Amino acid sequence: MDLSKSDKELLETVKNIFSAYLQNNGHRRTPERYTILREIYLTDGHFDVESLYIRMKNNKYRVSRATIYNTIELLVKCNLVQRHQFGKNVAQFEKSYKYKQHDHLVCSTCGRVYEFCDPRLLAIQESVSGLFNFKVTKRSLAFYGDCQACSAKNEEA
Ligand SMILES: [Zn+2]
Ligand SMILES: [Zn+2]
Repeated sequence: MDLSKSDKELLETVKNIFSAYLQNNGHRRTPERYTILREIYLTDGHFDVESLYIRMKNNKYRVSRATIYNTIELLVKCNLVQRHQFGKNVAQFEKSYKYKQHDHLVCSTCGRVYEFCDPRLLAIQESVSGLFNFKVTKRSLAFYGDCQACSAKNEEA
């Protein structure tokens, strides 16, 4: 795969952050863990553990589900990956380093997750946190419903 200069720099930066985290917390720095990090950072959008496992298997990487679970947990702890729980679906994840602040639309029928950015939400966040003197560290907002494709199908039926 040909990577752009900025992709390479990003991979290098997140690898260094992860490396420092593993070392400072007494975790082993194994090649599998770096491979998983790389795979996550070369992917756009959201994924669950199973789909990441299958993709890596198809790409001929030998990593177990257990290693993926365990590595993602570490990546969440060092803020390189964000975990989302959309309704009762399995947990989904996405890379978070230098990734734009955004919120989600989740289709309750097909499960697809769409991202959107609206600066007005940041304005609300800032005014509410100021009002309560509350330091916001995480934001979890999702709208649920039917995506365009699913609404069209529902109308046909
Ligand atoms: Zn849908
Ligand atoms: Zn997202």
